[in-house]
Amino acid sequence: MAVPTHAQIVVIGGGIIGCSTAYHLARDHKADVVLIEQGKLTSGSTWHAAGLVGQLRSSASITRVLKYSVDLYKGLAAETGLETGWKMTGCLRLATNEDRWTEYKRLATTAKSFGMEMHLVSPDEVKRMWPLMDVSDLVGASWLPTDGQASPSDITQSLAKGARMHGAKLFENVRVTGFEMDGDRITVVKTSGGDIACEKVVNCAGQWARQVGAMAGINVPLQPVKHQYIVTEKIAGLASDAPTLRDPDRRTYFKEEVGGLVMGGYEPNPQPWTTGDVPNDWEFRLFDDDYDHFEQHLVQAIARVPVLETVGVKQMINGPESFTPDGNFILGAAPECSNMFVGAGFNAFGIASGGGAGWVLADWVMKGEAPLDLWAVDIRRFSEMHRDRDWVRDRTCEAYGKHYTIGFPHEEYTSGRPRITSPLYERLKGHRAVFGSKLGWERPNWFAPEGQEAKDVYSMGRQNWFDAVGTENRHCREAVGIFDQSSFAKYEVTGKDAAAALDFVCANNLMKAPGALTYTQLLNSRGGIEADLTVARLAEDRFYIVTGTGFRTHDLAWIKEHLPKGDVAVRDITEAWGTLSLMGPKARDVLALVTGADVSDAAFPFATAREIAIAGTTVRALRVTYVGELGWELHVPLSATGAVFDALMAAGAGAQIRPLGYRAIESLRLEKGYRAWSADITPNDTPFEAGLGWAVKMKSGRDFIGRAALEAMAGKPLVKRLAGFTLADPKVVLVGRETILRNGTPVGYLTSGGYGYTLGQSIGYGYVRNSDGVSDEFLASGHYELVVASETYAARIGMKPFHDPDNRAVRA
Ligand SMILES: Cc1cc2nc3c(=O)[nH]c(=O)nc-3n(C[C@H](O)[C@H](O)[C@H](O)COP(=O)(O)OP(=O)(O)OC[C@H]3O[C@@H](n4cnc5c(N)ncnc54)[C@H](O)[C@@H]3O)c2cc1C
Repeated sequence: MAVPTHAQIVVIGGGIIGCSTAYHLARDHKADVVLIEQGKLTSGSTWHAAGLVGQLRSSASITRVLKYSVDLYKGLAAETGLETGWKMTGCLRLATNEDRWTEYKRLATTAKSFGMEMHLVSPDEVKRMWPLMDVSDLVGASWLPTDGQASPSDITQSLAKGARMHGAKLFENVRVTGFEMDGDRITVVKTSGGDIACEKVVNCAGQWARQVGAMAGINVPLQPVKHQYIVTEKIAGLASDAPTLRDPDRRTYFKEEVGGLVMGGYEPNPQPWTTGDVPNDWEFRLFDDDYDHFEQHLVQAIARVPVLETVGVKQMINGPESFTPDGNFILGAAPECSNMFVGAGFNAFGIASGGGAGWVLADWVMKGEAPLDLWAVDIRRFSEMHRDRDWVRDRTCEAYGKHYTIGFPHEEYTSGRPRITSPLYERLKGHRAVFGSKLGWERPNWFAPEGQEAKDVYSMGRQNWFDAVGTENRHCREAVGIFDQSSFAKYEVTGKDAAAALDFVCANNLMKAPGALTYTQLLNSRGGIEADLTVARLAEDRFYIVTGTGFRTHDLAWIKEHLPKGDVAVRDITEAWGTLSLMGPKARDVLALVTGADVSDAAFPFATAREIAIAGTTVRALRVTYVGELGWELHVPLSATGAVFDALMAAGAGAQIRPLGYRAIESLRLEKGYRAWSADITPNDTPFEAGLGWAVKMKSGRDFIGRAALEAMAGKPLVKRLAGFTLADPKVVLVGRETILRNGTPVGYLTSGGYGYTLGQSIGYGYVRNSDGVSDEFLASGHYELVVASETYAARIGMKPFHDPDNRAVRA
């Protein structure tokens, strides 16, 4: 069969991800799909995968994606007649120390929050389930009964057959060699079998996805890494339905296969493959066996399953797999090209993800927006810095090495730092700043007092910065501080039609006079929150948008994609402006000392923006706060950021001004009830559910994206609502995903958790759900508890901010 000259959608790559995407495009959307594979189907990474299928992740949406895979694999053979090898063996994860055990207790709670069954079992129970194992060093294990294993090639062939049954056309031995573009749009996919004119392209090219993307100018920041496992001869006494086994303290995993064991691991010293192009002639190929490198896993595996010492090894698999700088896969609409979508970089869980990833990616391709909150895997979480191949390799290797290490809360990566520093970096270091990194930027997390080492020490309980951040929190509430927020993403929107265009993209009213500052959400067609930002109207035809550091690529892409056509242009000007947030009850006193401008409440009220002069520089001052105190975000031309900081520090000496860090911001905003996008508010949540209905221009009569969906909700009861909770027990550490119990029944889970120093209590936020509606009365009448690391604690609900419920401080 000849390659067609036209198709609605071209999928590149015939591994599990491409086949699953083609299957879902054809089955769910009746799309006209052509899949192009340069070799045979499965011949990239898919054919040599070990086939373990786990489901639980820290994101509810990604867990849902993986659960979908399992449901699909269970039933696929009935549809296509081709078996998938799916076996629901369950999965045991072993713990050999208390920190790991705490991690599992938290995971078991997360599982409960996400509606999955997970149990904690004793070493004796583990021995009963897996008799060949030495359990003498175990504290216990977690048991997820619905996990399992499958045959990667069989699933893929079954999906490919299903795709064909629904009308997709699959071509083997045809290579995509380039694209014809019209601006940022692909018009033609060039292949070794001829040109295909098309509307959309889905890049599922596995470890080749980076170079396939590069042909259209898009960046897919993944790194191929060598990953090895062995397959043993038959082992007497090994049950064919033995649970899959993960032994993270020994960095290894196991799976039964035709009477023997598959055993592999994640070493701390991974072997990255090329940072250049992957050879195209890599069909069904492996690297040479590398027992020297693998020995570290063998030693650990024999200690766990002693019989391995005497069992023969049938085969070693040493294959490439694409890994990413944060261990999550890469999905969605490429920001650089208006019609290329990506599904790649599966970090050795592509078989587990394949079914679900194909489902959500197909939906995304057809509808232009993700069907649920996929931020954790969204390609727009990266930025230009991720074009640096060496940086991507180093960070990816660090992430690979951490695959099985204990996930301590607040842990920061260390490789490739510092990458981007603000002009205040050295000054803040002088103040003993301990930095974290966000999208490459070094940002002060906290400041170590004299006598304490300026370094994070991670633990499962309260960490070493706890008291220092408490001091910073109080300082902001009682005096004044400066937060260096120069990493904020900043855009300028200009043009005669800018106001009307932005007003259509934003849920809040932007048709205000110059000088107005507006807090707004950007909604998708379901009314879900795609972005949360502030917009300053600088002039009739000029707007300044400020959003979170990590959301830079994402929010810009969303705005560009959705702005109506007209005389309107958007520019990313992040690097042009430093940001100093001057916050605290004495902020006005300090500001008045460094500027001649009138900064009284009458002249410079809340939610306004003015240009004022400080230290000889014109500064964009925005009267806004994310910490619940009187304050200004001072946006300073980058080169003058140091001088303005120095002027503020000198003028504020009498008011005990000091720099403050991001961990204090988190605590302060939790006390004040400000929502964080990607945690409390996501594409899964509407402003009404999030308690942000006041920021939506429903009464204006003007149209905006998401309006129709919100109108359809009007008058109906809300089935979930965001609420705050406090927990009095000072020992309990909240990190998010803890289960909310109402009258003893799970009704939701925390989306954020932390500590409120002003209250002296832990604070969490989460959605309370009830299919019959969540009224004020429903919320108020419940008796609440939180399940934290598998223990239940009494909690108190609050529908108003816990600190300053009347909003006095902000409006002072
Ligand atoms: C040793 C090992 C063990 C693993 N174990 C597990 C496991 O237990 N569980 C799990 O979930 N995952 C596991 N994985 C990961 C899993 O194999 C991958 O995540 C998954 O196969 C990725 O699928 P894919 O479709 O993205 O990539 P691939 O299978 O590599 O498919 C990409 C396809 O694109 C084609 N292609 C590339 N360029 C072009 C072009 N220009 N034109 C046309 N076609 C092109 C390639 O030929 C290739 O077939 C393991 C991986 C390895 C290496």
